[in-house]
Amino acid sequence: MSGTQKAVVLQKKGEITFEDIPAPEITDSHYVKIHVKKTGICGSDIHYYTHGSIGEFVVKKPMVLGHESSGVVVEVGKDVTLVQVGDRVAIEPGVPSRYSDETKSGHYNLCPHMAFAATPPYDGTLVKYYLAPEDFLVKLPDHVSFEEGACAEPLAVGVHANRLAETSFGKNVVVFGAGPVGLVTGAVAAAFGASAVVYVDVFENKLERSKDFGATNTINSTKYKSEDELTEVIKSELKGEQPEIAIDCSGAEICIRTAIKVLKAGGSYVQVGMGKDNINFPIAMIGAKELRVLGSFRYYFNDYKIAVKLISEGKVNVKKMITHTFKFEEAIDAYNFNLEHGSEVVKTMIDGPE
Ligand SMILES: [Zn+2]
Repeated sequence: MSGTQKAVVLQKKGEITFEDIPAPEITDSHYVKIHVKKTGICGSDIHYYTHGSIGEFVVKKPMVLGHESSGVVVEVGKDVTLVQVGDRVAIEPGVPSRYSDETKSGHYNLCPHMAFAATPPYDGTLVKYYLAPEDFLVKLPDHVSFEEGACAEPLAVGVHANRLAETSFGKNVVVFGAGPVGLVTGAVAAAFGASAVVYVDVFENKLERSKDFGATNTINSTKYKSEDELTEVIKSELKGEQPEIAIDCSGAEICIRTAIKVLKAGGSYVQVGMGKDNINFPIAMIGAKELRVLGSFRYYFNDYKIAVKLISEGKVNVKKMITHTFKFEEAIDAYNFNLEHGSEVVKTMIDGPE
């Protein structure tokens, strides 16, 4: 099956084209070849498209886009035992080095040598055939569609944040930001047994949508003049209780400040969203309330498997995320559509090539 294949390539900031690139061949005996069937567009793809970089990751040469994918195994290396030809799989798109302290200490998501699809300089999954190691694939049960399988990627981000937060039965959770990441985070909080999942956002349509993603309460923060007022409103929504967990998926200063203020003493704060590099932060409260303050970056061991389980057991309905679908040949249109309709799009799916 050598030859070339079509790929959706970010040439540089602002320019996506279709290119013919060499079709991959298995060279590592633990790798498998996957025919990609569905790929979701991520906020990070759009950011590379519009800015050409995210933080230290800069697009310096053309890069194949896409990292939220599912597909069918079409060929396996000779030492592969975990999957077989014909298996339908979700592809965990980041492969760490086995030679880093981060990986060895159980935090492979932090590995400095991580090869992550569609993060420069690594090519992504918007191709027909993609190679992945057998142990970074999660098999999809028959009743889970390829679209849902592709949603395992963003869902794993929500799983990771909630595992760090130690979300469990009976906890009150506040999620700041009801964009795609906020929605998966709140949905996982509900699935993990949170009694209340309070969403805070500035857009009414996003808050409305959050009701399909575990929201027990929604708060439109534009109605309140100050963070102190917002803090009181969150408490009153919780009938006077304070949340044990606050997860910021907004990156907005007022949200971050409110989260720290509203948390119950001993509570956990998790930063998932990205905003300004520097903000005015109520740091004295961290000590006084003995808060746990955690950063959350992508996902690590078992997050992807848990994400697929949440989907297959019906605990999170990721189908509600998929707002738009495009054919592979329309992939460039799909990116432009996402760019122009940011607030109405949750997840756009692109079909794999036939
Ligand atoms: Zn993503």
